[in-house]
Amino acid sequence: MKGIFTTPEAAIFAANQSLKELSCKSQSEINLYIKSIRKFLLDNDRIKTLSQMAVEETGMGRAEHKIAKNTLAITKTPTNKTTDQHSYVGDLGITLEGKKPYGIIGAITPITNPSETIICNTIGMLSSGNTVVFCPHPNAKKVSFQAIAWLNEALVQSGAPENLVTTYEEITMENTDYIISNPSISMLVATGGPAIVNKVLKSGKKAIGASAGNPPVVVDETADLNKAARDIINGASLDNNLPCLAEKELIAVESIADQLIFNMTNEGAYLLRDKKLIEQLTKIAITEEGKINTKFVGKSASVFLTELGIEVDYDCLLIIFECDKSHPIVTTELLMPILPIVRAKDISEAIDIAFKSEGGNFHTSVIHSKNIDNINRMFTKMNTTIFVQNAPSYAGIGLGSEGYASFTIAGVTGEGLTNSTSFAKKNHKVLVESFA
Ligand code: NAD
Repeated sequence: MKGIFTTPEAAIFAANQSLKELSCKSQSEINLYIKSIRKFLLDNDRIKTLSQMAVEETGMGRAEHKIAKNTLAITKTPTNKTTDQHSYVGDLGITLEGKKPYGIIGAITPITNPSETIICNTIGMLSSGNTVVFCPHPNAKKVSFQAIAWLNEALVQSGAPENLVTTYEEITMENTDYIISNPSISMLVATGGPAIVNKVLKSGKKAIGASAGNPPVVVDETADLNKAARDIINGASLDNNLPCLAEKELIAVESIADQLIFNMTNEGAYLLRDKKLIEQLTKIAITEEGKINTKFVGKSASVFLTELGIEVDYDCLLIIFECDKSHPIVTTELLMPILPIVRAKDISEAIDIAFKSEGGNFHTSVIHSKNIDNINRMFTKMNTTIFVQNAPSYAGIGLGSEGYASFTIAGVTGEGLTNSTSFAKKNHKVLVESFA
């Protein structure tokens, strides 16, 4: 398979060779390579194949939703623009502020969006003239390798150098550590939980960290409750709640809570009322040590319902239940299609609960409201990288909204939705007493 090497050393060596060739190419040529990637991956059901492979290999998520996520990564990850330059002109001459590639980037990718992250990172990183060595999640190795091989195939078909995107066969933590510390790797990008993000931040290299979230959604008394119910189910159930930005707890203002819950059940959410069953569900999702039960990450709602002895005759997307604001399912990032609902007496209390349950990740928050003051209060208090109003959370990455897509949402290091400019370093070209 193209781009897959036996060892990390060999992957770095190949990426270094191709970097030299890439440095002689113009931005227009690179943009043509990216165009070829987009076309190649959209052809011949390749997205469907990647999506099905991911579900089969990881046992997580829904193939039809992964098709939407992969399509988004392919079509809406932006390329570099040659116009992204600033100039300072005056009596003393001219200074041009431009961007240069970092070189070889080590990119660590998650199990939850395996091919999506690889495609999105590749487009952004190549676009700025870098090459990449990927460290995929070991339990998403096959689908990640397939994505990397196809990216190389598309690139070579368009006349690009070989091995712009590489990886190695033995995916282990030791090999990731090797990539992190290797002097030929000039930048690190980690998309995953806090452990790997902290590790790259301690590397002493330029690093981008895109870490966990626990996004709350608030609904107030002015919201369109039919739309809110639909949007929340769609957002929270996307790929069985695997996306880091998916709604993970709902805080509803008391006066509309009953109606909202009624609307959500009408839209197909399963409302769990029995206290014993809620307790049982909590024990399935969170272990006695307070850790997420990884066996159930990304499983569909029907799997949880079957565990509880409940049969439904439709494809249920989301389980909902009411609980207290301190319930562990409210405060823990589960990545499961289970949405706890907390009642608040008014918008102030709702925003306060939302802030505390988000847990200081400052990642994503959502509100359904028509009151601009309430929206603004929540926006100001939450201070999240992504803030969505009156839409499903995924509108925050360009799905059904304006803007662009990113599967590396770097709240920790502040790049926000990463794009090609995140993977380029600034430089100044100074001409004194010329062109003035
Ligand atoms: P994870 O942290 O378990 O793994 C992510 C990657 O890091 C994998 O490749 C894994 O092999 C590697 N890794 C983890 N710990 C490591 C260590 N100590 N040393 C070396 N490598 C290590 O996360 P995951 O289960 O793959 O993905 C889910 C998590 O990622 C969730 O917390 C989710 O919120 C987060 N995430 C964030 C974003 C974002 O853009 N902010 C996007 C996707 C996922």
